[in-house]
Amino acid sequence: MTEAVFAGGRSRTGRSSTVGQVINPADGSVVDSFAYADADDVDHAVSAAREAYADWSGQPPVERSAALHRLAARLEERSDEYAIVETRQTGKPIRLSTGFDIPGSIDNVSFFAGAARNLEGKAAAEWDGDHTSLIRREPIGVVGSIAPWNYPLQMAMWKMLPAVAAGNTIVLKPAEITPLTTLMLAEDCRAAGIPDGVVNVVVGTGPVAGEALVGHPGVDMVSFTGSTPVGKRVMEIATASVKRVHLELGGKAPFVVFDDADLEAAVHGAVAGSLINTGQDCTAATRAYVQRPLYDAFVAGVADLFGAIRLGPTEDPSTDLGPLVSARQAERVGGFVDRARSGGATVVVGGAAPGGDLASGAFYLPTLVVGAAQDSEIVRDEIFGPVLVVLPFDTDDEGLALANDTVYGLAASAWTKDIFRALRAQREIRAGCVWVNDHIPIVSEMPHGGYKQSGFGKDMSTYSFDEYTQIKHVSMDITGVAQKPWHRTIFTGPA
Ligand code: NAD
Repeated sequence: MTEAVFAGGRSRTGRSSTVGQVINPADGSVVDSFAYADADDVDHAVSAAREAYADWSGQPPVERSAALHRLAARLEERSDEYAIVETRQTGKPIRLSTGFDIPGSIDNVSFFAGAARNLEGKAAAEWDGDHTSLIRREPIGVVGSIAPWNYPLQMAMWKMLPAVAAGNTIVLKPAEITPLTTLMLAEDCRAAGIPDGVVNVVVGTGPVAGEALVGHPGVDMVSFTGSTPVGKRVMEIATASVKRVHLELGGKAPFVVFDDADLEAAVHGAVAGSLINTGQDCTAATRAYVQRPLYDAFVAGVADLFGAIRLGPTEDPSTDLGPLVSARQAERVGGFVDRARSGGATVVVGGAAPGGDLASGAFYLPTLVVGAAQDSEIVRDEIFGPVLVVLPFDTDDEGLALANDTVYGLAASAWTKDIFRALRAQREIRAGCVWVNDHIPIVSEMPHGGYKQSGFGKDMSTYSFDEYTQIKHVSMDITGVAQKPWHRTIFTGPA
């Protein structure tokens, strides 16, 4: 059993009487177990973060930067270990862990190690002639961060890095089913010389540890990545103490293919964009709208490639697609597909668990659905599985209107060789990221975040500092005059 709390540089067993397990969804084996953290543990971790705040926020940026550079080097040394643990706790194919999750996380650390030295306010000036104004960009304090299970290490990084680079301290709650690489990260922060109490971790359930963290009076800001319904709950709790909130929520990304698109590129993009991380990606392509002339060929092309995807043991580098994160998630995905089928949609390929050698895992075949109604749940709701729905459209106006017909607004893509169509699509699609002729690539330098019910605030890039810092105006009299001209509007002094 692993200890569920890492606070003030030390591990301790969670105080909750609830014991939870980390299960490898590829075969159902138990990887680890925890006595979960409860509200007392959260309080203990918040105290550690508060205690560390004055020193950490007062350090010159170069010191914070140096610590993050040491962390990047340490993660690089242990990258194989991180990859295998990530694969075992989530069911990701090892090729995804070694090629995406772990190097992406390390690149993020390197980026914020540099960005930590680049925090700036606006230039000073004498706006009224008598005072010098300057802008200070200051950390917020203690940040309560909550992360989901789909990319455990990357999401922990997205929560932690801009916060600590800007001088905040954090208490991070990973998803309780995938906490292992986050705990490794906390230990490596210590090994890299990040002072005790700057990065604290509590492993516990959302309703207990999560809500205790969001509501804690010692927490100044809440940064949450997860589903939209839980994001609403987090916002509601944070309202009571007027905490700053940063929300990265669900998505239902449209993939719009115009009739002049490179069909082969669009088909390959749809397969990679919908199956990444077994579809458990908030930006994954989920709704492909294809202009009528290309529709049949697109469906046939995706069906062929879906049929050739290799499902298999997650530690085998030739495996393309792993299981869902849990048996529960696989059931949920199957439920969406079954209900779509009984509602009149057609499942072109997939639509079932694979069985055979993979029957003990939470696997589900890549699934292509056509003929669903725009207002059906398979088109509207976040499924978070290897399922792509394809629908036809006729005019450009219609394609763009369908893309925007959603409560979400995290990401989207448009496929065309026509520069004017591309320019129109990138402007009119209401989402925090619009790709043109690709779907998924992200870089540490560019912001990630939603429109509409996909949340607000940005992760990654220097834009994320806007979330984790606050602006202070300092105004200094430069005249040294006792009776200032503006005083006369209030009083004129002795006659
Ligand atoms: P979730 O909302 O169920 O859980 C996310 C986290 O919140 C977990 O740590 C969970 O324990 C915690 N939590 C649950 N209930 C809580 C409560 N009442 N109070 C406080 N915390 C609580 O999401 P999930 O199933 O872990 O992850 C999948 C979701 O995350 C999807 O909706 C996906 O789109 C979203 N996501 C969004 C982004 C983004 O950048 N926008 C990135 C990754 C995942």
